[in-house]
Amino acid sequence: MKLKKHLIDPALGQHGYFPIDLSIDNPHWDHNDVSDIEVFEQYLDQQRKDTDRYIAYGGYLEQRALYRNSDRFQKGAVRDIHLGIDLWAPAGTSVHTIMDGIIHSFANNDDHGNYGPTLILEHDWNGEKLYSLYGHLSVDSMDGWEVGLRFRESEIIATLGAPHENVGYAPHLHFQVMNSMLDYHGDFPGVASSNELDHYKKIVLDPNPFIFEL
Ligand SMILES: [Zn+2]
Repeated sequence: MKLKKHLIDPALGQHGYFPIDLSIDNPHWDHNDVSDIEVFEQYLDQQRKDTDRYIAYGGYLEQRALYRNSDRFQKGAVRDIHLGIDLWAPAGTSVHTIMDGIIHSFANNDDHGNYGPTLILEHDWNGEKLYSLYGHLSVDSMDGWEVGLRFRESEIIATLGAPHENVGYAPHLHFQVMNSMLDYHGDFPGVASSNELDHYKKIVLDPNPFIFEL
């Protein structure tokens, strides 16, 4: 997979990207608890050795095993389809913009299983408004953020959070691209149920072409 834009630390990116399968179709998750950080990190380490690459990525429209055992995602219609892309790298890894933009909004969505520190940028893209969301960031990243603050392409906007701040996950970036914020500020659904999917697919774009040469 060839990279188009560095979303996280280019120095780490030199060690390569590999796709990771967190879907309900991966039998590994029938016998291993993907929500257990230690279990997940072991799997990640093994995959890094097997592929000789470092940064795991994936998840757009993936139906995930991760949400099976979580009350948060099981209330009402089961929400288990992931709307963004995740990139797994250590806490403290720098996060970069892939295009010029300004801060639309931000929040620390710190209830367990949510995004933790979350940043949303607004961009002009081919004459249209485009919004990018960065979740599971460090609390320190929030120092200096203010609505309207301008970032240039490839500038550092944040660092990745540790599990106690990200809130309860192996360190990773959740990146998502939307053509509307609806009425959200500092937040936007990152997981949908199958009956909401048609609605969200019109708003949440495939993030892969923004990052990778496909
Ligand atoms: Zn995610």
